[in-house]
Amino acid sequence: MTDKLIDNFGRQITYLRLAITDRCNLRCQYCMPAHGVNIVNRKELLSYKEMYRITRVLSELGVNKVRLTGGEPFVRKNFISFLESLSFNDKLEEINITTNGVLIKKYIEKLEKLKIKNINLSIDSLNEENFNKITRRKVFNSVFQTLEKLEKSSLNLKLNVVVQSGINIHEIKDFIELTRLKNLSVRFIEEMPFNGTGLRKTDQVWNYNKILTEIKLHFKNISVLKNKKSATSKNFKVEGYLGSFGIIPAFTRTICTDCNRIRITATGLFKNCLFDDGVFNIRDFIRNGASNDELKQLFINSIQKKPKNGFVAEANRKEVTESMSIIGG
Ligand code: SAM
Ligand code: SF4
Repeated sequence: MTDKLIDNFGRQITYLRLAITDRCNLRCQYCMPAHGVNIVNRKELLSYKEMYRITRVLSELGVNKVRLTGGEPFVRKNFISFLESLSFNDKLEEINITTNGVLIKKYIEKLEKLKIKNINLSIDSLNEENFNKITRRKVFNSVFQTLEKLEKSSLNLKLNVVVQSGINIHEIKDFIELTRLKNLSVRFIEEMPFNGTGLRKTDQVWNYNKILTEIKLHFKNISVLKNKKSATSKNFKVEGYLGSFGIIPAFTRTICTDCNRIRITATGLFKNCLFDDGVFNIRDFIRNGASNDELKQLFINSIQKKPKNGFVAEANRKEVTESMSIIGG
């Protein structure tokens, strides 16, 4: 048996995005409906033991980086204990977390001692009223305090900002201004039009080029940073500023050629691409007694179905109705 995950296009998979739960304590407009969110029965969620095992098996096949996402990972009970156990996996080089920042503040010192490298904090507005409107909850001050505490910590801080037409475009420049004195990277994400209620209508598409053009209107001395292979964002810096910024072409999908990622949803659905329908449910195989070798073979076979890019994946899928809180962003 080969011991690496290499797809039909020669791409090696080294990065797992694992959704810890489908539950969330916010209701961001672009991600979830305000009411009537379909959450799955608790028993359908992967247990921590199952997640640990999946990660271990994948790490033996060359996956060395894991991003924990959701839903909101910190709303699941005992998440910190899970992080502790995952940190013992010597084959993992990096554990990263994507969070809305509502519950993380008291754990920052603890996280610094574990194998956590990057924290991606999602914050779409620096204005309290606007933030509350986007998230449909009133937690701006606490999230902003968390941002400041994270920036001073030894963790690497990235801010995720979903660029939403008519909602936070006027704040793009404010986010970049934040990088003047703060050692963080702001990453502007193209909005993907699915929020759990089918396609979301937007007046204008704020794609990579449009976002960059807007930025260049306000900042003249911008330099391009060298990209790491398989990076999801194109990165820049305003000269003289401490931090940096990037743009993630999540929807225009110009980053697929070097894709090194797979996803596993909170219920165990294995996805080769953000835009595909999922290949198989790993939870069912585990609960039916599959051995580690059988799981490895399943992963190796499934990787062969990885589509060339997100457009091919989308063309082959059925109707898009799920929320990013299930897929894991
Ligand atoms: N709750 C955590 C958070 O918000 O950071 C983790 C899960 S969330 C689904 C992961 C990332 O996906 C967040 O940065 C969020 O802003 C982004 N996201 C959610 N829905 C999106 C959409 N429709 N288009 C673009 N990004 C989206
Ligand atoms: Fe929750 Fe994150 Fe979705 Fe916002 S983006 S509703 S914080 S899962």
